[in-house]
Amino acid sequence: MDSVKAEANDVHNTDITRVIESKDADSPTGQTTFCIGCGACAFVDPAFRIIKNSDGCLQAEQVSDTDLRAASQVCPFASRYDENRIAETLFAGVDGIKHDENLGYFLDTYVGYVKQDGYRERGSSGGFISWLAATMLKQGLIDAVIHVKDGDSPENMYGYQISHTPEEVTQGAKSKYYPITMSEVLKYVSDNAGRYLFIGIPCFIKSVRLIARQNPVIKERIPYCIGLVCGHLKSDFFAKSEAWESGIPPQSLERVDFRYKLQGRPASDYAIKVDGRGPESPHSVIKRTADLSTTDWGLGYFKYNACDFCDDVLAETADVTFGDAWLPKYAGDGLGTNVIVVRNPEIATILDEHADEIQLFDSSPAEIYQSQAGGFRHRRQGLSYRIETKRARGEWVPTKRRFTGIQAPSERRKEVYAMRTRLKNESFQAYHEAEAAGDFSKFVAHMKPLVRRYRRISVPLLTRIKRSIGHLLPAGVKTNLKRLLRIKRA
Ligand SMILES: Cc1cc2nc3c(=O)[nH]c(=O)nc-3n(C[C@H](O)[C@H](O)[C@H](O)COP(=O)(O)OP(=O)(O)OC[C@H]3O[C@@H](n4cnc5c(N)ncnc54)[C@H](O)[C@@H]3O)c2cc1C
Repeated sequence: MDSVKAEANDVHNTDITRVIESKDADSPTGQTTFCIGCGACAFVDPAFRIIKNSDGCLQAEQVSDTDLRAASQVCPFASRYDENRIAETLFAGVDGIKHDENLGYFLDTYVGYVKQDGYRERGSSGGFISWLAATMLKQGLIDAVIHVKDGDSPENMYGYQISHTPEEVTQGAKSKYYPITMSEVLKYVSDNAGRYLFIGIPCFIKSVRLIARQNPVIKERIPYCIGLVCGHLKSDFFAKSEAWESGIPPQSLERVDFRYKLQGRPASDYAIKVDGRGPESPHSVIKRTADLSTTDWGLGYFKYNACDFCDDVLAETADVTFGDAWLPKYAGDGLGTNVIVVRNPEIATILDEHADEIQLFDSSPAEIYQSQAGGFRHRRQGLSYRIETKRARGEWVPTKRRFTGIQAPSERRKEVYAMRTRLKNESFQAYHEAEAAGDFSKFVAHMKPLVRRYRRISVPLLTRIKRSIGHLLPAGVKTNLKRLLRIKRA
């Protein structure tokens, strides 16, 4: 009886409409919705299609009358069948499985990288995702890999595609902080028998699992999902603004490599490589992200609104999740290191059987959490604040999971979260202004006072004073001071 009731409560048919039509009351461009543009609705129902909105985000649009139930059931922000329940059906019965509120289910946790065949050098982090996908292909566990590769035009820089060989998989390495959608590749899977591996950010994997609940063909044909740890997804304004600030304006932009590794630098000190086109544009530019005003992920510029209403950092419904080891112990190694959460015993076996090709260090849930601590704070404590704020205004919000041990935010912390929402919203407006003026400095001028205010709220006074003094000191004095402090602490 209870399960029948729960099943009935999983879907409120109108939720899909709220997901795709809700406007953020604070958004000056009025475009943002709770839709991530995954395309699950368009795959199950032709009454929906995916379009790019004027803020450079992909989003669903309903183009004809329909029974909204099918789309509501597979939308990651409309369905009330949450990550916990999906993961439970997949992993709760696995021998030796453990559970943690941040990691979800897990068998093993590691930090590591791939030693073989340049996977690490070509990848964003340790190269594990491409290596694992290629290894699964070579072993015959799968026939093809669904992942994000080069698109066919600068306006469609990256998109979901299907690779059938390890070489094709390798061509798709690296993170694309860019709008993507999957309805077309899912149609391909429906039409072409085979076993596919799906690679995606958490909300996309949730959609694939929700579709698989309803669709036995997809369930059978996509037996594995690899998850990417996710901070948030970006509008295409992110690529355009990074390129523009590097000297290549939007009309001359061909492609951005978002994760260009700099030899001998720490992993966090990476660059972007921008390819331009046309006679007036330099052929390509490499620029450290630290020298760009748009790349501080904490500011959340050009973030999809939906990402502020997601609580799944570690792709809890994936068979295995990979991210960046943003930990002091590993961040010094510029070649890149992954954090790894294994949930499926078959993946655990692959890692065991290929131990000579990879380097793994045992990790712990606490260390994995620590590598994404900022993301967790924003998506758990921050999310509870954002939900509360919207509900207080009588606005609709997607149903989210409840977590224990989330402290109520202090007044200062609330201001930090509110300011982040403002930075996200204003970044779109500022980009429109820069575009209208044909001048990127308009963007910087619009955002600068807001960033200054955000730093005043988010960075404690003592840290700001220390930083200001640090900026005034010559480099040699700074290094000696740091050494002295370290000796004193030891
Ligand atoms: C939008 C986004 C946000 C992220 N946020 C974080 C974060 O906050 N913290 C963190 O630790 N890691 C984050 N990551 C993951 C991280 O950037 C690396 O992708 C991850 O560590 C894997 O590195 P790798 O070297 O093993 O993968 P690689 O060997 O480089 O392979 C990457 C694989 O991911 C696929 N891929 C790339 N972009 C996308 C995309 N947008 N959607 C679906 N598949 C894609 C590629 O096609 C390729 O198959 C994010 C990634 C993305 C795309």
